[in-house]
Amino acid sequence: MYSTTDLKRPPEKDIVSTLQPLILFPMSKNKKYPIEKTEEAWKAELSPEEYKILREKGTEFPFTGKYNDHYEEGIYHCKGCGVPLYESKTKFDSHCGWPSYEQCIEGTLELIPDHSAGMLRTEIVCANCGGHQGHVFSDGPTKTGLRYCVNSASIDFIKKGD
Ligand SMILES: [Zn+2]
Repeated sequence: MYSTTDLKRPPEKDIVSTLQPLILFPMSKNKKYPIEKTEEAWKAELSPEEYKILREKGTEFPFTGKYNDHYEEGIYHCKGCGVPLYESKTKFDSHCGWPSYEQCIEGTLELIPDHSAGMLRTEIVCANCGGHQGHVFSDGPTKTGLRYCVNSASIDFIKKGD
């Protein structure tokens, strides 16, 4: 009988190093989005911090973003292209230091496997412009069980009625 328990798993660090070459060119680098701009155009439009996060997949320091502790009624839009991504009613206080949502507006985000930093995470990017938003985790405390962990620099809030 063939038993899966007989399989020897390589040490964790070997798995990571095996995956490393694959992540040098993440899928989103080759993919075409409805909104495509040159790096120069993005740089001209975004602040240095926004560019680093949206276009170079950076992460802002926790508890520093302007929407971390922000609870007004309205819609959070992509900072890169302006499409609505999250509704205020789906935002919750995760205490993790970044704006957190239990869901996004349907179909507005693309999920990409992210093996960087020695972790297996799921990156979220705007499906319209490819702008990096953050990551989605399955440890959400609400009924969706999800936590969309987003950089404040990746989004723009528009208050209801504005
Ligand atoms: Zn966008």
